[in-house]
Amino acid sequence: MYIIFLGAPGAGKGTQAASVARKLGLVHIASGDLFRQALEQGKELGLKAKSYMEKGVLVPDQITIDMVLERISAPDSGGGAILDGFPRNLKQAEALDEALAQQGKAIDKVVYIKVSEEELLKRLSGRRVCRQCQTPCHVSDSPPRVEGRCDKCGGELYQRPDDTEESIKRRLEVYSSETAPLVDYYGRVGKLVEIDGEGGVDKVERRIVAALGGERL
Ligand code: AMP
Repeated sequence: MYIIFLGAPGAGKGTQAASVARKLGLVHIASGDLFRQALEQGKELGLKAKSYMEKGVLVPDQITIDMVLERISAPDSGGGAILDGFPRNLKQAEALDEALAQQGKAIDKVVYIKVSEEELLKRLSGRRVCRQCQTPCHVSDSPPRVEGRCDKCGGELYQRPDDTEESIKRRLEVYSSETAPLVDYYGRVGKLVEIDGEGGVDKVERRIVAALGGERL
């Protein structure tokens, strides 16, 4: 089963994709996490992506597509995956469809998480992320038990350099112009399920589980 989580930055894709993937026994593939990990590890891929990420614009398609398709073809992804943050434009969506079709596979569902712009800004500006396991939290909505430390693994929490006001604004613009058209792309082929992303994490998760057909989870 291959599921895409689609939505603006701050919609909660990462949090929801991680927990739904655990429930479904699927691999969670987050393109932004892959870039950040590569950067933390000083890999060439991370260095190539760094300046784009800091500006809040998309990393060039070929670099991104190659990275994600390689991850999808790893043995642990054979049973399916939840894709979070990819595809982010039509070219990436078409490349993904083509690569899956070559293996006799296809995207099953696209979970579109919808959140108001006001809520997105609030979530992104208060977000902190674990340097080690990438788990996010929020300084006021879901504060860590120990200040500055990840609840899950004890790693150091930091504010992403692209969660600054200027970068957030740019990322939301990029989302509207490049990624939002994917809502129509997947809607036309009947794969889109729209989820109200406002409210607590558990509430939103229950909506997603129900929309995916709760009996499978
Ligand atoms: P995210 O963690 O999904 O918010 O992604 C952080 C940044 O990584 C984005 O602002 C882009 O610069 C880059 N990025 C992540 N996924 C993609 C993608 N599918 N295509 C291009 N750039 C991406």
